[in-house]
Amino acid sequence: MNIDGKLIAKELREKLTVEVAELKAKHGVQPLLTVIIVGDDPASHIYVKNKVKQTQEVGMISNEILLPANTTEQYLLQQLEQLNNDTSVHGILVQLPLPKHLNESAVISAINPDKDVDGFHAVNSGRLFNGESNALVPCTPQGCVLLAKHHIGEDLTGLHAVIIGRSNIVGKPVAMLFLQENCTITIAHSKTKNLDEVCKQADILVAAVGIAQFVKADWVKKGATVIDVGINRIITEDGKTRLVGDVDYDNVVTKCGAITPVPGGVGPMTIACLLKNTLVATKRYLT
Ligand code: NDP
Repeated sequence: MNIDGKLIAKELREKLTVEVAELKAKHGVQPLLTVIIVGDDPASHIYVKNKVKQTQEVGMISNEILLPANTTEQYLLQQLEQLNNDTSVHGILVQLPLPKHLNESAVISAINPDKDVDGFHAVNSGRLFNGESNALVPCTPQGCVLLAKHHIGEDLTGLHAVIIGRSNIVGKPVAMLFLQENCTITIAHSKTKNLDEVCKQADILVAAVGIAQFVKADWVKKGATVIDVGINRIITEDGKTRLVGDVDYDNVVTKCGAITPVPGGVGPMTIACLLKNTLVATKRYLT
């Protein structure tokens, strides 16, 4: 069966809409998310447009700062400093990837960790690693756990979660989150031996690899919950472009217990969790 990310994200946004209205009524404060986008990458612009739309739909204020591709690092850092000091701004997000001449790590480090709604700042990674409750947790990993829980139930204790991928934005944080849920975790990567055997042990299998239809049906334990993070474009036999995940969906769906489809699985949860982080950052600012 499918885990319907679109529906679950909609439910989360509805919950957030109520909480935002309550916050406004009680404190007179409306969460404000500022997104900085540098350059003309069309995919980034579409993604940011979606973020802006959904931010406004839940009753938050969205502020977009569009900067030209030749923006200097110094200018971008100055902008971030201003936003860090602006008490009306609760969440700051710099859309990645940045143009090549800008150092992503330096830019992310310049965001106030308490406004870092992407959760990529090293301080937030450290808080997550230490199991501290004040971490702003990266959005896609949060979405993965919520989707797994939607199918399995709140208690994931003792389940074996195998994560393929060890990136700082998906693989590592998702592993930390499943560890917090008392799962036994295995992080696999390109140097992992006998990957199929490792995957076969998973009660929860997360694929965050970036290779189209990489995970095969015979790697999946019967009844496992499969979370497919991958977003890959392939050309079909009739020459059309199709979006697929990192899992060979057509063959895995009949074997696993549940799977997130691509599109319509993890993707929609990412923006919903970004809004959730913005609300968390706003509430923390008020306390
Ligand atoms: P990265 O390229 O940063 O990381 C990919 C990981 O996969 C690496 O750890 C790499 O291992 C591992 N890997 C690569 N090849 C193999 C292999 N043959 N066997 C086992 N492991 C392998 O990607 P991201 O983590 O940024 O993203 C992963 C996927 O998720 C992409 O498809 C991306 O588009 C998608 N994505 C989707 C999001 C969403 O909202 N749905 C958000 C973010 C990403 P090693 O470290 O050894 O190189």
